[in-house]
Amino acid sequence: MYFSLPTEYREASVDELKDRIRLARERVGDRLTILTHHYQRVEVVEFGDHLGDSYGLSKVAASRKDVETIIFCGVHFMAEAADILAAAHQKVYLPNPLAGCPMADMADMVDVLQAWDYLKQFGGEKKIMPISYMNTTASLKAFTGKHGGLICTSSNAPAAFKYGLERKDKVFFFPDENLGYNTGIKFGLKPEQMVIWDFAREGGGLSEEQIDRATIILWKGHCHVHITFTAEHVRLTREQYPDVRIVVHPECPPNVVAAADANGSTSFIVDYCRTAPPGSTIAIGTEINLVSRMAMQYPDKKIFELSGLTCPVCANMYRTTLNDLAYCLENFTDLEPIMVPEPTKSDALVALEKMLEIT
Ligand code: SF4
Repeated sequence: MYFSLPTEYREASVDELKDRIRLARERVGDRLTILTHHYQRVEVVEFGDHLGDSYGLSKVAASRKDVETIIFCGVHFMAEAADILAAAHQKVYLPNPLAGCPMADMADMVDVLQAWDYLKQFGGEKKIMPISYMNTTASLKAFTGKHGGLICTSSNAPAAFKYGLERKDKVFFFPDENLGYNTGIKFGLKPEQMVIWDFAREGGGLSEEQIDRATIILWKGHCHVHITFTAEHVRLTREQYPDVRIVVHPECPPNVVAAADANGSTSFIVDYCRTAPPGSTIAIGTEINLVSRMAMQYPDKKIFELSGLTCPVCANMYRTTLNDLAYCLENFTDLEPIMVPEPTKSDALVALEKMLEIT
């Protein structure tokens, strides 16, 4: 896809862009709402009506039936989820249509269908529940809904696993192996009860015996931002700051999660910072824009990014600029909304609503 802003938006100053955004907001009034994900740039977050993680924002999208237009400052799968949850009279726009998620792209529909077909010999839908992370395309959410499964985010993954394992013998989870593994451990499973399905290999690279014994089958996928954190970062940080509290996102590798003091969703990390006593030292293993905002918001606490060096930025979240937002707000009536076609939309809605029900 090619996307380029008109010159007047590319060359506008920050002050001019902010003025245009404010004026456009005033013109549209209450008929429009702006959702911003925690990983967005600080200057974009400033214009959000709702700030949250993908779970929180999907709840907002499902509940704001009073607006006609939702501008979602996030990545593509989030805007798709908002469109699935939105009512027929609502339209959802992604200010930068190139903002995707490399992790979501790691689970391709064809590969997942091939895996599901192979897993039929182990009981298929009767014995295995597909659980899809929010970070997937709408068609994979639809696949999940059609086969009796549900969606989860890092906020409610343990509840989703509980739901799955109370009803089926196994869970087939995609696409983040780290979130799946860390959730399995939280849930009380042993490492040997989880296997990784490598979609590039015949039979997922697993023996029949391994699949038979497994409780969780994890897709081989990851978030390139969160896998930059290592157990060595944790060790060095503790050495330098003996009283530090380390909190990380569960998309981090299992040995990082195990070495941290706490782990949880983006909202969990925000609450962790908010409720820590003044004077606390907190190292965070997640996306840098969130960490920087926490440090600015709580100047009475020493808050910094765990790796110290790698600058874990999500380049896709970072794509959305004030320029994009100004353009989108002034021109959305002429732009293509994010639209999930039927029957994908209805099937995906089943899986998303199940997620909202159980949490
Ligand atoms: S931080 Fe990772 S999982 Fe989240 S949008 Fe960026 S690449 Fe995707």
